[in-house]
Amino acid sequence: MTHNPASSSLSAPSSLSAPSSLSAGLRCRCPRCGEGHLFSGFLQLAPRCERCGLDFGFADPADGPAFFVMTGVSMVVTGLWAWSAVVLQPPLWAQFATVFPALIGGCLACLRPVKAWLVAEQYTHRAGEGEWLSIGGHGEGGFTVHRRAVAEAQARRG
Ligand SMILES: [Zn+2]
Repeated sequence: MTHNPASSSLSAPSSLSAPSSLSAGLRCRCPRCGEGHLFSGFLQLAPRCERCGLDFGFADPADGPAFFVMTGVSMVVTGLWAWSAVVLQPPLWAQFATVFPALIGGCLACLRPVKAWLVAEQYTHRAGEGEWLSIGGHGEGGFTVHRRAVAEAQARRG
């Protein structure tokens, strides 16, 4: 990931008011202006916002949306199914006919807004891959230099 949302936000038009990440996510809109469409396909992100020009190259929620959606939807559907199986005792075919479509439909319905919400959170918190600053290589840096300086000072003293 080479794009930094912080640097691209420097060129943000000042007239745009930033939406909340949840609002932008649930509406599948650009996290900076809240107007442009985030997706160019069902789950395919657009290259940039058509309204404010924000480059969506920073966005990489990976498998986070799938994990959260599958976990949440399966917990809700399984809970409702368990309750209905005990209380209503529907026939087995009715359970198959309702539970599987509910699982699949619930996941498909939630994937886009959850992915958009996670992208908006990435933008808001400027999340990206870790960028580590070097603290020096072998033979460099404070500890070795300090020990060397102490040894040289002791040698000078005698
Ligand atoms: Zn935008």
